[in-house]
Amino acid sequence: MRRTDRNKQENNRGILSRTLILLALAFPLHALAQTSADANKLLSVWAGTLPIILSAPHGGREPIPGAAARRGVGVAQFSTGRDSNTDELAEAVALKLGERLGVKPFLVIARFDRKFLDVNRPAAGAFETAAAKPFYDAYHRALAESSEQVRARWGGGLLLDLHGQGAEVETIYRGTDNGETVAALVQRHGKEALSGAKSIFGQLAAKGYHVLPDPSGSERERRYVGGYTARTYGSHRGTKIDAIQMEIGTNLRAKANLQRTAHDLAAAIEIFAREFLPIDKAAIADLPRP
Ligand SMILES: [Zn+2]
Repeated sequence: MRRTDRNKQENNRGILSRTLILLALAFPLHALAQTSADANKLLSVWAGTLPIILSAPHGGREPIPGAAARRGVGVAQFSTGRDSNTDELAEAVALKLGERLGVKPFLVIARFDRKFLDVNRPAAGAFETAAAKPFYDAYHRALAESSEQVRARWGGGLLLDLHGQGAEVETIYRGTDNGETVAALVQRHGKEALSGAKSIFGQLAAKGYHVLPDPSGSERERRYVGGYTARTYGSHRGTKIDAIQMEIGTNLRAKANLQRTAHDLAAAIEIFAREFLPIDKAAIADLPRP
């Protein structure tokens, strides 16, 4: 290589490295704006007109751009399994509640696949690549903002976190950390509100669903006691939001049964809401009952 070429090359290298530094300075801001907008694209969020929030963290099917599948090294109770059709179920329940009451719940549905991000966990065990963090933050921002709106307008309300389980395919499990995450509800209305005739689980049992723990007994929650979302947003933390995790059996989420399950769940929530939630009864009382 001739000396002048080398000089030219070194000069170019200088320009290149200065350009890279400028790019590095400019990129994070741009990237942040970009990923935050992208993160919201993989969520379905409704602002509600009823003090009920429905969430579905594990039904999504979409990849997260730039994120590799999680491996779960050192993560307790690691799982990447999809809670099939819980996203459709949450949406169907929300629509049916809207039809029944004339007002609609808040809705937060993750469309990203649990393989890449599990939002029902503390951030430390939820994702393994930085590309997934904006999606984690966006999901929890939506839940936190929904909770804030419910508190501001109604003074409190209900969060139902919808999941799927395959251990007992015809069963619906209740998870409240044995009453902790619904502390405010139970304090105000007693255990009736959690397992009585007009509770969501009491209603489902009356319709013939197998519900655990049995609403008529005093058995404790054992198998699915409620995860990060219920424990983070629940009323035991003074949030005024009573959080219940529902683990719905595979058969009840099958395509052929999905609308029936959604119908019955919406009907059960309506009975509960009319009895125990600070809804504007005057606004919905005149609606014809389906
Ligand atoms: Zn789940």
